[in-house]
Amino acid sequence: MVSTQYCLPMNDDETLAMIGRLARIVTHDGHAAGLKPAQWEALRYLARANRFSNTPGALTAYLGATKGTVSQTLMALERAGLVRKSADAADRRSVRLELTAAGAALLPQDETLRFAEALSRMDAAQREALNEGLAALLKARLAADGGRTFGLCRDCRHFRRDMEGAGRHRCALLHVPLSDEDTARICVEQEAA
Ligand code: SF4
Repeated sequence: MVSTQYCLPMNDDETLAMIGRLARIVTHDGHAAGLKPAQWEALRYLARANRFSNTPGALTAYLGATKGTVSQTLMALERAGLVRKSADAADRRSVRLELTAAGAALLPQDETLRFAEALSRMDAAQREALNEGLAALLKARLAADGGRTFGLCRDCRHFRRDMEGAGRHRCALLHVPLSDEDTARICVEQEAA
């Protein structure tokens, strides 16, 4: 067996080990309420995605999974009454996804919220540094595979803030108005500013 430990600089081997342990915890927690980890991932995604990103294709890109796997996941969630599919009002060939009331009601049972409890015990500077570090790591790792970052709308280079504070922001890419709520959602088209 080849050890990577001796070719990694500084504490990177320890960082990789921690990423692996965190991933195992998230996978383990993904069996809450009788669901599978991929099904929880889809519910979390739909709870955060903006109106341009609530499609099977965007979910597939976000999960980095195959179309077939995502299709199976969505069918299971539909059968359980947690997700609803509908035709796009503007393009009837496109499918839009949304959480049902039951799907939204399940979110507080997400076991990964225990990470939020742990984060709340860290000070603000630690949390900010962690957020920035994880964002940089994720971006670099996704870039290696040509993946999209799905960052927050308010951090996008196409985001134009309403400087008068009236919440009438704009997207310079899609040429649509954005509300304050939109700014805190993730987007398939997001490009970091
Ligand atoms: S500003 Fe960026 S993240 Fe927001 S809707 Fe437009 S492309 Fe998406």
